[in-house]
Formats: sequence, structure tokens, C-alpha cells
Amino acid sequence: MTVKTKNSQHYIDLENQYGAHNYHPLPVVLAKGEGVYVWDVEEKKYFDFLSAYSAVNQGHSHPKIVKALTEQAQTLALTSRAFYNSKLGEYEKKITSLFGFEKVLPMNSGAEAVETAIKLARKWSYEVKGIKDGYAKIIVCENNFHGRTTTIVSFSNDKDANQNFGPFTPGFIRIPYNDLESLEKILEDEAQHIAAFMVEPIQGEAGVYVPNEGFLKKASELCKKYNVLFVADEVQTGIARTGKLIACHHEDVQPDILILGKALSGGMYPVSAVLANDQIMKVIHPGQHGSTFGGNPIACAVAMAALDVVIDEKLSERAEKLGEIFRSEINKIIEKTDLIYKVRGKGLLNAILVNDSPESSTAWNICLKLAENGLLAKPTHGNIIRLAPPLVITEEQLMECVSIIEKTILEFEKQ
Ligand SMILES: *Cc1c(COP(=O)(O)O)cnc(C)c1O
Repeated sequence: MTVKTKNSQHYIDLENQYGAHNYHPLPVVLAKGEGVYVWDVEEKKYFDFLSAYSAVNQGHSHPKIVKALTEQAQTLALTSRAFYNSKLGEYEKKITSLFGFEKVLPMNSGAEAVETAIKLARKWSYEVKGIKDGYAKIIVCENNFHGRTTTIVSFSNDKDANQNFGPFTPGFIRIPYNDLESLEKILEDEAQHIAAFMVEPIQGEAGVYVPNEGFLKKASELCKKYNVLFVADEVQTGIARTGKLIACHHEDVQPDILILGKALSGGMYPVSAVLANDQIMKVIHPGQHGSTFGGNPIACAVAMAALDVVIDEKLSERAEKLGEIFRSEINKIIEKTDLIYKVRGKGLLNAILVNDSPESSTAWNICLKLAENGLLAKPTHGNIIRLAPPLVITEEQLMECVSIIEKTILEFEKQ
């Protein structure tokens, strides 16, 4: 018997009727994924150029990660941390040695890992640095995106993120992104009250803002000079996305606290992590922080497999090489059109800038056309389109995508 699946509109209507309207998705209903491809319920095939916000770096349903997930699910899923489990230690050893830290604290979502890093930095600042209890501040950047919890939106300057969600958590100072002078000034003035500087090495959600070369290096040196922790939120930039295992490695920076999420599980399962050395991590004692699901056996098995795939398939090297090709190809399109005027990014985390106001619907309409032509991407902040395929994409597939983008842009302009 063949079962005719319902059409896209059916599923869109269901979500609209029964789900909170906290997202504005493209009108595409996906039912299947494999590698760089996804298929909608009408069996139309697309290249995925969002990769679930860089969670699916290893490609959809990577067989090794699926195997790890299903085997572990059939063996032991969840114990809570009330007991030891036979996967956690092995995973902790693997992730700490891969990223060069002494300890890891496992969580689930990116936002939880950011919250964990904030708590860790604050506690360190009281117990090791010696700031008076309750007075620690954390420096963050304008246009940051670190997640959606109440504390995290407290230091966002995006109106959508925080309007009418107050009262807010105090203790954050916002400085412009990519601005070493502001950082140095605030450290000079207030370092005795400052626990940490938390930064995205490339601002992903803000529209793939790449800081000047040397920014991360200099910022981390300033932090060291003033005894302030350098906290890198690599939830989006980490796990090979930008052409290195973490984006900080482009400048040979080892953060004091590293936050990972998204592709840590290859998009298979919510897995996040906070990494730090003993000197910092030792301030957390039993009962002071935790999560029912953090470090569960499935998460550990999945993350180990996801990290193996990154190493075995040389995804950092691939992202680095294909990223160069991609930007140079997009620059060729830019020469032929007025519709887009810039491509920026590192590795396979890139964005094109559309020549129209952020309030216009041009970028959205281009994304609708891209979808029609078989490539899924989503605008961010109005006139910016992020382009971030799974890192398992081949050069041949990438070139096919470049021609889809070129065709779409050139046709769009003629309308
Ligand atoms: C996505 C993201 C987060 C939040 O991760 P969630 O899993 O959605 O909570 C935090 N920081 C950065 C830089 C991100 O891109």
C-alpha cells in the first residue's frame, strides 16, 4: 500500500494553528535529510545552506553518528548524574584532549552552556580573583547572540530578543564588537570588578561579522594582562565550521573558557559543553550546578562519533579550502550584479549582503527563489543571507550551488 503524504500546506497550517509563533520559517516542509541534501514532503530535493545554524556540519544523518545514537539508545539512554555511567568519562577524556583543556562540564543546549560559562566565570572571580561577592561584571559585545534565556537576553541589544522580557539580570557591560580600544579602556578603568570578556569569534546571528585580524589575539592578551577570563562562545563557529577546529585557532588563541554546542553532536541530539582548566573549573563543587540530561550516555556516544567524523573526514581542512573557493566564486557573481554587494566569512560560514534596506523583503524574496531553485538559506537581520552548507559538501556540489545562486541572483534582478 502506498501512503500518499499530505502536502506542505497541511503541515504549515498545523504548525501555525498549534505552535507558538516564535519563528518565521520559509514555507518549506522538510521530511528527510542525507549529507548535504534535504527533501520536502513533496519530495523536492534541496541543498541545505543553513545546516540548522551550523549544527549539521557533519551532514544530515551521518551513518556513523546514527549508529552511535541508535546503539546507545538501545543500551542505556539516561542515568542522571546521580550515578557514574560508562560513556561519560570516555567522552570527557576525548573532548578535553581534542580541545586542549583539563576539564569539561557537559550540558545540552548552547544557551545552557553559555549560562554555565557565566556562572563559572562569576564564581571564579569571587573565589580565585577575589572580587567582592555580588559585584562581578562580564563584558559582552554589541549585537551579540548567545541564546534565549532570561539572563542571556538581559545583555542583548536586539529589541526582539529582550523587549518585554525584563526585569533583567544585572552585571553585564556591553562594548562595540571588534573594538580593542573600548575593551582596553573598560579593563583599565574597572578590571578589578570584571570577571570575564565573553565574545563570539565571528558574530554569526548578527550577520557573519568577521572581526579584524588580530582582534581575538589582542583581546585575549588584554584579558590575561588584567586577570580577566577570555570566554569564547564557539557554539556556531566551532567544530570545523570556519576552517579550524575552533575559530580562535585562526589566531592561535586558547580561550580560558570555551563554549561548544550545535555541531558537537552533528545535529543529532542536543549536546553542549563548557571547557576550562582546573584552575577555573575547580570552583564548581557537587550540588552547585547541573542538568538532568547533561552528560547522558546517548549524548556522550553521539558527541564522540560526531567529533570522530570531523577528524576522520578532515572537515576543518575542507571548510578552509572550500570557503576560499566559495567566496571567490561569489565575488565573480557580485561583479555581474547590483543586487548583492559583498560576501564575507571564514571557512564555510559566509554571508552575502543584499543591496537593499534591512527593512525590505528583498533578501527574503531571494531566499524564496533560491528554494525554488533547490537551495535553502535564510536571511538574518533583513538584508543579509547566511550561506553555511554542511562541511561534507564536495567541491563539485559546491560549484553546483554557486551556479544555483548565480542563476537566482541574475534572474531576480531582471524581474
Ligand atoms: C545558537 C547559538 C547559541 C544558542 O544555542 P541554543 O542551542 O540555540 O541554545 C549560543 N551562542 C551562539 C554563538 C549561537 O550561535
